[in-house]
Amino acid sequence: MRKICPRCGSHNVKWIIPQNWSQWICYDCDYTDPIIEGNQELADEIHESYMESQKDE
Ligand SMILES: [Zn+2]
Repeated sequence: MRKICPRCGSHNVKWIIPQNWSQWICYDCDYTDPIIEGNQELADEIHESYMESQKDE
């Protein structure tokens, strides 16, 4: 299991506030909030739908 950004599927996440375990930051999409754990398959899935949602903008 790895830490995954639930928004873009990136592993480039960091725990920023030691007092608040649920507060994480994703350096790829600037997401800040609880992170999720999952395998590479899940990460790829999230990343794909994230790319899809970015297309139209
Ligand atoms: Zn992200």
